[in-house]
Amino acid sequence: ARSDGLEGQVSGARVIAQALKTQDVNYMFGIVGIPVTEIALAAQEVGIRYIGMRNEQAACYAASAVGYLTGRPGVCLVVSGPGLIHGLGGMANANMNCWPLIVIGGSSERSQETMGAFQEFPQVEACRLYSKFSARPSSIEAIPSIIEKAVRSSIYGRPGACYVDIPADFVNLQVNVNSIKYVECCMPPPVSMAETSAVRMAASVIRNAKQPLVIIGKGAAYAHAEESIRKLVEQCKLPFLPTPMGKGVIRDNHPNCVAAARSRALQFADVIVLLGARLNWILHFGLPPRYQPDVKFIQVDICAEELGNNVRPAVTLLGDINAVTKQLLEQFDKTPWQYPPESEWWKVLREKMKSNEALSKELASKKSLPMNYYTVFYHVQEQLPRDCFVVSEGANTMDIGRTVLQNYLPRHRLDAGTFGTMGVGLGFAIAAAIVAKDRNPGKRVICVEGDSAFGFSGMEVETICRYNLPIVLLVVNNNGIYQGFDTDSWKEMLKFGDATTVAPPMSLLPHSHYEHVMTAFGGKGYFVQTPEELQKSLRQSLADTTNPSLINIMIEPQATRKAQQKLTQHCKSTKCTS
Ligand code: ADP
Ligand code: MG
Repeated sequence: ARSDGLEGQVSGARVIAQALKTQDVNYMFGIVGIPVTEIALAAQEVGIRYIGMRNEQAACYAASAVGYLTGRPGVCLVVSGPGLIHGLGGMANANMNCWPLIVIGGSSERSQETMGAFQEFPQVEACRLYSKFSARPSSIEAIPSIIEKAVRSSIYGRPGACYVDIPADFVNLQVNVNSIKYVECCMPPPVSMAETSAVRMAASVIRNAKQPLVIIGKGAAYAHAEESIRKLVEQCKLPFLPTPMGKGVIRDNHPNCVAAARSRALQFADVIVLLGARLNWILHFGLPPRYQPDVKFIQVDICAEELGNNVRPAVTLLGDINAVTKQLLEQFDKTPWQYPPESEWWKVLREKMKSNEALSKELASKKSLPMNYYTVFYHVQEQLPRDCFVVSEGANTMDIGRTVLQNYLPRHRLDAGTFGTMGVGLGFAIAAAIVAKDRNPGKRVICVEGDSAFGFSGMEVETICRYNLPIVLLVVNNNGIYQGFDTDSWKEMLKFGDATTVAPPMSLLPHSHYEHVMTAFGGKGYFVQTPEELQKSLRQSLADTTNPSLINIMIEPQATRKAQQKLTQHCKSTKCTS
């Protein structure tokens, strides 16, 4: 019997936690404070892992990555007003990425509503633009069904973010246990299949393709369609191209992967099978001049509203990617067909891949210091464990890194995504490390950050150290956003005036020792300037399976991809070998 006279009573906080657990929600990220601290405590009591972060934005990024990685939404718990508003960035990012996420926000007391209460804000309305579903339960008794609805909405149809608002006065309110009815865990998302006639038509369009291409997006990764897509690609001998987070659905080093001839493949394909990728900026809208004007798209998506965006597809297959790919496979089982491996198209693609790969290898082999991006990434790639998660953000750091760093497994690359968000890296890395700890102990997380990108969530290094997550953080440091200055030029420039008037807005403090952010909290820090130092520090970091580390890699502050390419072209045309 309880001594507090609360026998048979349950708090609002406990009801929220229990309702989440009943919906098989297992991870909560957030920052506590009035009025949500009790919710975090209750979550731990019912067996939900609670990861306390340093900024709600990063917490929200982490929770959304859990949703993408596990198919079950993570929770981001935020306080009222500013806490919720900081979280909106993460909600927007999740929703844009079509990743499931539950945000639970404390809000001010109902009795003080419209009176200028502490941190009062129209939170349910504010979240509407950033979510699929945004609601406040009308009573504690209504919490379980609202939470079930939020979890279900986040994973059914096109996945996305959902918001549940919890007034402060709900949190500690005690109600009779018997008045609460927990709603059974929602069923897994129903699997929808495409119309048979459309599937037949799609198979026939593929059979008649002269220059076919399969594009694999992060929707395919989320859908766990890797087995069926690999079968389709191998059985029909089709070239495929992953989008940034579609990397790894089929391993990057698969012979049919034409990523190294990306522009060429997009530009001359006559039939494109689009598996879980939108024709947005990442894919140049599916329009000329990046594509043939009459390219036939076979668009596969779970979201009907997506079909026909920006182009008029030849065939639309509305349904779950895994199920629809199996439907296509049935067609090719009935009447086997394969794209001729000796075709001109394959020859063109292979040649382009070869020359592009040679180009970046050449840049990577440059011995000049400071290092360029390619040198850095080739040395990193050499040592990366095949099954590791690669998290990446930054401008050139992410773009060039993507072409060199290989993914061999689906859902193992996390980056700035559809919204092009900087600041996601550390939150994503924390989520991946927490999930790995539970599901694949020993699996490593490598987080490749530009120096600017690192700054957005740098204090999450404390979170990494607090939970002892052996993440390897690489900061590719060019002293700036896109580009920066070396120390001498920086000092020289300051002779002409105050930094606020003379420093280019892109520049950051040169020679910054970001590795000290890691050593400040007990992790390992390395400052490296040469390939040898990079190799050695990375070897040590990967060998250390218990401590996090940060390797601050100084590169040429003016290095860009374009200049490097121009440089090589120039070198090639003049036969210079330097
Ligand atoms: P990328 O960034 O890789 O191009 P996008 O995020 O643009 O990918 O597109 C992913 C697409 O996948 C979205 O249009 C989404 O509706 C779709 N999608 C998500 N899950 C599934 C699924 N299970 N089956 C089919 N389509 C899905
Ligand atoms: Mg930079």
